Amino acid sequence: MAGLPILIMLRREVAVWVVDLLWLSIIFVIARTVLRTRARRAEQTDGEFTRIDELTGLTDRRGFLEEAARLLTDVPKPPAVGAGSGGLSPGGRVSGPTTALMLIDVDRFGEINGGLGHEYGDRLLVAVSRRISAVRRPGDLLARISGDEFAVLLRGIDGEQARTVVDHVAVRVRDALGMPFVLAGMRAPLEVKVGIAIAPDHGTDVSELLGNAALALREAKKSHIGHRVYDTGLVRPSPARLRLRTELRAGLRGGQIELRYQPKADLRTGCVTGMEALVRWRHPVDGVRSPDLFLPDMEAMGLMPALTALVLRTALDECARWRAGGAALSVSVNVPASVIVDSGFAFEVRDALGKAGVPPAALCVEITEDSLIARREHAQRTLARLRTLGVRVSLDDYGSGYCSLAYLRDLPADELKLDRAFLREVERDSTAAEIVRSTIALAHTLGLRMVAEGVETTGLWALLAAWGCDEVQGYFVSRPMHGDQVLPWLRQWASRTGLSPAMITMGVGVPAGVRCSSVRRGSAVSAAAPARR
Ligand code: C2E
Ligand code: CA
Ligand code: CA
Repeated sequence: MAGLPILIMLRREVAVWVVDLLWLSIIFVIARTVLRTRARRAEQTDGEFTRIDELTGLTDRRGFLEEAARLLTDVPKPPAVGAGSGGLSPGGRVSGPTTALMLIDVDRFGEINGGLGHEYGDRLLVAVSRRISAVRRPGDLLARISGDEFAVLLRGIDGEQARTVVDHVAVRVRDALGMPFVLAGMRAPLEVKVGIAIAPDHGTDVSELLGNAALALREAKKSHIGHRVYDTGLVRPSPARLRLRTELRAGLRGGQIELRYQPKADLRTGCVTGMEALVRWRHPVDGVRSPDLFLPDMEAMGLMPALTALVLRTALDECARWRAGGAALSVSVNVPASVIVDSGFAFEVRDALGKAGVPPAALCVEITEDSLIARREHAQRTLARLRTLGVRVSLDDYGSGYCSLAYLRDLPADELKLDRAFLREVERDSTAAEIVRSTIALAHTLGLRMVAEGVETTGLWALLAAWGCDEVQGYFVSRPMHGDQVLPWLRQWASRTGLSPAMITMGVGVPAGVRCSSVRRGSAVSAAAPARR
């Protein structure tokens, strides 16, 4: 009987445990539900948060894809092949409202980031997003979908007018972004390229439209045009482009590449310091074509090393002929980034100089800022080798890119060529004038000669002379000419400037007694603009 109370006590204990366990389970379930709900809420908030791009405050890529997919559900589908005209107008356009997707890509953004640093890169992206936002149509969805790429979904476009509307919007965006941005105290011009796909002809879902807009964008970049609407021929180069490239390759081999030469003059003395070699393509049917029309294709075909070698040889041979004719001129050759990074280029130059019998100081190599940014060490090595040979180096189109002062400080160069875009405004705009004046002072502080390009007027010549610029190049002195016109032209220039024909050239590599620099002392032409022809 003694065991009974123990049994009762044990039962009670078990009952208390069971009750405790029950309570614990209830508390556990409640706690787990609360925690899960919180986590789900946090996830949703996070999800919403990640749909906003932190830097610009615009919708991000994920947000754009989701929202665009939703908005595209009411876009009319294209009729099946063989069906009647359905929702399409006879011209193949949609009747009723439709939607277009526009991709906007900032040109050479990598250079800005590399040249000025990420902080300025970020600031630029924010400024770009604000400008696009300011010109977008009400109700259009704008997003930053990757580093320097923005997307706009244009909604409610009249299908009949779709092409006109997208062209108009693209021009507005490019104009808004075309006005220079002020970055690191500099006016930084910016270019963008735009690719567009229109629903339903170029796709009915967001991924198809995005893919086709990207193809159109790639084509706009390749052909250096501001914006491009997708068309079905974009997948491969057009037959016309393929034909042009075949002709170009044949032209390079077949003697159709020619050079023109444009003089540079010393502003203090009026002496001609040298000639810049500028390439032309004499197409057998279409006649002479300017470099802007074929250099991008040459670059795309990997022909720039062959072209540069040809230009170098031809220009040095011509220079040797001028010098033999009594004009101690130098010659400048444009060398693209793709060639300057080649470690063998300096040796090629040395051999070409030797073959032509031209002293290295009579050759100037013009490079652009992209050479200093892409594969900088390779470019610097080649430039240092060239300068050891005695060849001069010029930084061309200065001010058109994003070269930071740090690059200039370390630049193995002898002169800076100020881009002609800078000079367009100086006679009207005091800020532009101040920028040019300070750039001249900066070049001199760094021990560089300053050459101003694109000088077309007496007024500009006089201004630049007063500001202490060293040399000018431009239509005011002369347009580019054939090599055999150079000596006769020098005689005309002598009569325009009142200089003695014997002293009209700068005299690179000739005895000091006959050098133009001797005219400079006490010269009557100092800083005076030569007479207009
Ligand atoms: P660039 O090196 O800046 O050459 C100057 C360009 O400005 C030339 O155009 C010249 O004709 C033009 N120009 C000169 N003075 C004036 C002026 O007063 N007013 C105006 N409006 N324009 C002026 P071009 O010959 O059409 O050459 C265009 C560009 O093509 C050159 O710009 C250069 O970047 C490139 N290029 C030309 N020849 C070669 C070459 O042999 N090799 C390479 N890689 N590029 C070349
Ligand atoms: Ca040049
Ligand atoms: Ca230039």
